[in-house]
Amino acid sequence: YHFGHNRAALVQMISDFRATLNCAPPTSNDLCVFVFQIDDHRISVCVHLRPLNEKELKDMDIITIPTKDLVIVHEPKLKVDQTQYLDNQDPRVHRYIARPLNIVEGRMATCFTYGQTGSGKTHIRHITGKNQNESKGIHTLSAQDVTRCSPLVLLPRSPVLRCPPQVFNLLKRKAKLRVLEEGNKQVQVVRLQEREVHCTEDVLKLIQVGNSCRTSGQTSANIHSSWSHAMFQIILRHRGKMHGKFSLIDLAGNERATDTSCADRQIHIEGAEINKSLLALKECIRALGRNTEYTLFRGNKLSMTLRDSFTGKNSRTCMIATITPGLDSCEGTLNTLQYASRWRVLPRFKCVHL
Ligand code: ADP
Ligand code: MG
Repeated sequence: YHFGHNRAALVQMISDFRATLNCAPPTSNDLCVFVFQIDDHRISVCVHLRPLNEKELKDMDIITIPTKDLVIVHEPKLKVDQTQYLDNQDPRVHRYIARPLNIVEGRMATCFTYGQTGSGKTHIRHITGKNQNESKGIHTLSAQDVTRCSPLVLLPRSPVLRCPPQVFNLLKRKAKLRVLEEGNKQVQVVRLQEREVHCTEDVLKLIQVGNSCRTSGQTSANIHSSWSHAMFQIILRHRGKMHGKFSLIDLAGNERATDTSCADRQIHIEGAEINKSLLALKECIRALGRNTEYTLFRGNKLSMTLRDSFTGKNSRTCMIATITPGLDSCEGTLNTLQYASRWRVLPRFKCVHL
């Protein structure tokens, strides 16, 4: 992809570019997770940038974050005469984490993580803070938020959607599930298990069960999780009535949607299926952003399952796009940011540092 480029010269160009900005680029010590609280916004988008890791020491950092709401990707390009230049792209997306998505106030809250395999989708669910015991992962934060208000009953459930569309229960050794639409437009996942929980630890334990089930029987945890969307929901019931619902969705690695290099037919079909569900999802979000009453949810299991979380006045949706700083991931990073920026509908943000 970057054949013909002189890496040393690229590093210099990026460094020159940064020198013109009045900012310190993030270093590998910066954990780039910020909170943008968007109290009155239904849809929000943010970016999580992980540092380069040990295996990527030879790679170069092509991401610059000059202000808290701007991510610049330095894409190396070649002119016709083979001189290289940087295409500094800045898809306008924002960085933050799912803190404001709580369901205690009676909300339907949904949080997606989207990005290439290895970009940090799983990581941001389990981040620990500076203090060893303090977890700032989305799972812990959301579990804490909802369990604080006992004696409400929480019912976590965990289906996984595999491509081509098959739905499995991760809390019951991947038992197959069926998604049905009833006459009253309610979507039912047949035989989906709900478990009662009473504290944060209960929730985290169930998530662990689901995660190990998702990756069991596979040679590589990452390979498997990149082939499916996984969903974990926490439902809050008050006297038997649903009070709120929090859905966490770990989307399939997006390189699977665009990978055309693989000769395996099955892999092609699955990649196309992932692509279809991601596009359907984007259309749903855009329709919501325009406040139009599209019924785009049918025909796609991912968006169908989430319909009640999207529609309704009290719904909040947040997408966290995860990216990698390395040049080797440049194409994937741009794909991720472009997808994410198309989600963004509302321009106002308030920033809070975690
Ligand atoms: P994904 O779920 O998207 O495939 P992972 O969450 O497994 O990616 O992350 C890939 C690797 O990157 C892991 O080793 C993880 O610890 C590391 N990583 C991700 N985000 C960060 C971060 N913010 N700081 C340090 N390491 C990170
Ligand atoms: Mg993962």
